[in-house]
Amino acid sequence: MHNINETHNKDLESWIESANEPESDFPIQNLPVCQYLEAGEKKIGVAIGDSVLDFEAFFNTALAKGGEKVDMALAVDSNVRIALQEALGENTNEEAKTLIGEHLLRKQSDLEYVKPFHIHDYTDFYCSIYHATNVGRIFRPENPLLPNYRYVPIGYHGRSSSIVMSGSDVVRPKGQNRSDTENPPVYIPSKALDYEMEVGFFVGSGNKLGETIPISKAEEHIFGLCLVNDWSARDIQGWEAQPLGPFLGKSFATTIAPFVVPLEALAPFRVPEYDRGDEPGPLEYLKNDINSKKGGIDMKLEVYIASKQMRDENIEPHLLSRSNLKDLYWTIGQMLTHHASNGCNLNPGDLIATGTVSGNENDEKASLLEITKRGKEPFELPTGETRRFLEDYDEIIMKGFCGREGYRRIGFGECRGVILPAN
Ligand code: MN
Repeated sequence: MHNINETHNKDLESWIESANEPESDFPIQNLPVCQYLEAGEKKIGVAIGDSVLDFEAFFNTALAKGGEKVDMALAVDSNVRIALQEALGENTNEEAKTLIGEHLLRKQSDLEYVKPFHIHDYTDFYCSIYHATNVGRIFRPENPLLPNYRYVPIGYHGRSSSIVMSGSDVVRPKGQNRSDTENPPVYIPSKALDYEMEVGFFVGSGNKLGETIPISKAEEHIFGLCLVNDWSARDIQGWEAQPLGPFLGKSFATTIAPFVVPLEALAPFRVPEYDRGDEPGPLEYLKNDINSKKGGIDMKLEVYIASKQMRDENIEPHLLSRSNLKDLYWTIGQMLTHHASNGCNLNPGDLIATGTVSGNENDEKASLLEITKRGKEPFELPTGETRRFLEDYDEIIMKGFCGREGYRRIGFGECRGVILPAN
């Protein structure tokens, strides 16, 4: 697990002024990676303030120092962070400023982003006990949590081909609906389209088929984190998932934010794992002292909605929830170790998402399924419009950041998507 080191020093400032704004997502302590298109080619970038540094070109200059040019984006380790901070820091020399300022910086808002890595595989967990309980209560009021929950980090294999970048429109999926239980199902556009506020992490180095990853080494295999919206069609999901797991109710789209924050940048925000109290602890292979003490991450998450009418009338997006990654029942290390515990091989660039990150409070419910109790309790938008599930042209905006006294705020950018009518 990463320790706090010189790269987290809050007094480090950049000569790129926008990075020094207190509310910037991307101060010089963050340095998240992304991938963008330039003249039809994919380029690896590092976000700083309102800009993106052409990372590959940076590597070809003398400024990169000892950093190795292997696996590029996944190689942003301590040494590379230090080299980047020297070149982007306020004390760098004029030559470096000129070289970077004139040739290697791009304006963040001008770029077209693509997936940060080649995502071989995508797995989605179900690691919020609050989300699992809220959802379970809808279907089994007396017995919301199934008996395996406190032992098994529950997950399913998602679909990587339909992962899209923030800002991409999402077409309302069509599928089988059997809300009229007296009649056979019908194939129609989903009437219960939902979002799930999640956080994803990318595998940095994998394991061989047949080998496992001990919990003590789990985080060495994790590169960094990004925001994820696991769009979900509840009507399709409810009818098809008997008895197997999520399929077409999920695989129509998953949106990710473009910036992947290296795990090292999050060292100041590590917190103890979920407090199980008297509940049975995890099995031995998921138990580890460092994981108990520092396996959690204090990361604040926010979800907003903006209807078309709201956007047309310039009304600010409406806050749907605020929740925190530290409330997950399982840590990211436990998810990774459990994933490989049967010998399943993970590959660099695999995306593993946490599941909906809900909290215990009413305003910490991170999906409409929970907020409206599966559509039974609609809520009102500032325009007077009501919502049970998402309507066409609704936009969902997700944000995330870490903040703590004595450290710079580390942000994750935004994960956005607008729903388009079904084809
Ligand atoms: Mn999910």
